[in-house]
Amino acid sequence: MTKGVNICNRFLDLVPIYVERWFWLLSISGDSIFARMIQDGFRQQGLRARLVQELRRKEAGNERVWEAMQRVPRHLFLDTSFGQFAYRDVAFPIGAGQTISQPSTVARQTALLGAEPGQRILEVGTGSGYQAAVLAELGVELYSIERQSALYSSTRGLLQQLGYQGIKLFLGDGYEGLPREAPFDGILVTAGAAVLPQELLRQLKVGGLMVVPLGAKVQTMTRIRRLSENDFEQETFGECAFVPMLGGIVRR
Ligand code: SAM
Repeated sequence: MTKGVNICNRFLDLVPIYVERWFWLLSISGDSIFARMIQDGFRQQGLRARLVQELRRKEAGNERVWEAMQRVPRHLFLDTSFGQFAYRDVAFPIGAGQTISQPSTVARQTALLGAEPGQRILEVGTGSGYQAAVLAELGVELYSIERQSALYSSTRGLLQQLGYQGIKLFLGDGYEGLPREAPFDGILVTAGAAVLPQELLRQLKVGGLMVVPLGAKVQTMTRIRRLSENDFEQETFGECAFVPMLGGIVRR
């Protein structure tokens, strides 16, 4: 009994030393995943919970999507100067003239895709990596393609630091998709396509879904289901506004 108490006291004596070393390790590891864990404090988690409540009220998304969004620290996908606004339901600039989509848009698109764990999903328009992280939290095998090399590089680093090493990122033109990785159970396009990207339709499995903002002047959230080799069914879900889906790769 006495021995037990002594061991316990000794352990308590050591706690401050361990804690201090732990924080020291965090500080020297700079941008590491541990440092980022600290940056996702109770305040950010609380703001995120409030945002998820807002999405529930707006009926944007579904339970699985909201749970996934509760786990993704959106403030770490934005420039630090926008950090305080990260949990408002608005889009923000992410560099290279692009934006991180509004949370309600992310929630709606993700719910429309209805991806199940283990499915092979292609995202077109990696951007900040936020949508990719939400999809990864749903347990899908995610492929994501971005045409802006500056965004591709910075987002690849960030996703690794945050522990999303499983996401397969590609620098390329999303109009061409990823023929070597196809077919996909689902394709999520996060830029506005003036016309339906035919190559992406070819890379969709029979029974698969593609969600894409579609239209030259006015964009409409559109979902395509591949019914057979040659038959597709199209549904629409209201107007939306995305940056345009453009062809080619932009190298720095
Ligand atoms: N999913 C992103 C996120 O969570 O931040 C949204 C990014 S933004 C709304 C759309 C992205 O699509 C931009 O990063 C843009 O560079 C990219 N994009 C536009 N056309 C593309 C194309 N043909 N192939 C790949 N990416 C494209």
